[in-house]
Amino acid sequence: MSEKIWLSSPHMGGTEKDFVTAAFDTNWIAPLGANVDGFEEDLEQYLKEGYVAALSSGTAALHLALVLADVKAGDEVICQSMTFSASANPITYLGATPVFVDSEKDTWNLDPVLLKEAILDRIAKGKKPKAIIPVHLYGMPAKMNEIQAIAATYDIPVIEDAAEALGSWYGDKACGTLGDFGILSFNGNKIITTSGGGALVGKDKAAIVKSRFLASQARDPAPHYEHTHIGYNYRMSNICAGIGRGQMEVLEKRVEQRRANYQHYVKELSGLPGVQFVSEPQGTFSNRWLSTILIDPLQSNGITRETIRLALEKYQIESRPLWKPMHLQPVFAGAPAYVNGVSEMLFNNGLCLPSGSNLTQAQLQQTTDIIKALWNK
Ligand SMILES: *Cc1c(COP(=O)(O)O)cnc(C)c1O
Repeated sequence: MSEKIWLSSPHMGGTEKDFVTAAFDTNWIAPLGANVDGFEEDLEQYLKEGYVAALSSGTAALHLALVLADVKAGDEVICQSMTFSASANPITYLGATPVFVDSEKDTWNLDPVLLKEAILDRIAKGKKPKAIIPVHLYGMPAKMNEIQAIAATYDIPVIEDAAEALGSWYGDKACGTLGDFGILSFNGNKIITTSGGGALVGKDKAAIVKSRFLASQARDPAPHYEHTHIGYNYRMSNICAGIGRGQMEVLEKRVEQRRANYQHYVKELSGLPGVQFVSEPQGTFSNRWLSTILIDPLQSNGITRETIRLALEKYQIESRPLWKPMHLQPVFAGAPAYVNGVSEMLFNNGLCLPSGSNLTQAQLQQTTDIIKALWNK
């Protein structure tokens, strides 16, 4: 039996252990140290704009972004419905309510038309949303010009969830640097990993400095422990940051490898009736964190995304339906939602294919051969 093929597994570059060893050699086994500072600098240089705070997770980064946007109990925050639950969960940590907005078909991300409708309706109902969270799902940049213009009109801060989109670009701007705040994730399944970790990105240096303060238990300057703010224990460990510094050396290569996976799938599968891909709108560049396909069951001779998933599973090949929209999740059943059917259609018909940068050509070929055989029966 051959080895299991994962959806997206960690892929070390080689120098990570050197940075981790340096942390041990200097005894900086703590949530601060040279690797944390170095990783933040590496990220700032890569992103070209904005300031970065290295944190314990992408979820923690979102939580702090919402705190900095002054989200409080009883407030409402607009969130893309088509996403992973971590985009929405931190809204509830603050006692605020998520208001879900559906996607457009070009990028599968926050629909600007529906966003405007949602804002106007929430204002009419008596509450202006305190923040907007668009997501660059699977690495595909959202329609940020349109989203930012609406956000500016109503003076609402944008918190960009770029957890899946490090290495993706919108024009000449890195995803994560477009909004007032952006967040990144270095979880084990992301394009680069620190085993677990995240970062807050922001245009305003003072806000990022404050996020580091809040993330280290909000200790005021004093010889004793003195507190005027509620703090969090959200700083990144110096060990994890060492892994991150090594990973930054291969980020560009990882983007190329993920994009090559996507090209393989297009080459092998785009001729199959009913199989569709999502292409990059003009002027955008996706890191293709996950390669995805949409199946139109009316054209695919009855083959569904579930037929494909089960066929791959027989050979220990992991695939996964597209993320189930938040407005369809039992835990968010009571939340307001502005929907147009797009995210539900994506969930019903879409599949994420094996997308790791460490997949071999043989593994990719085996995957597409199994899928093609379903059509050739
Ligand atoms: C992974 C992910 C997160 C959360 O990041 P963690 O580092 O795992 O906390 C948030 N949003 C999206 C869209 C993600 O994919």
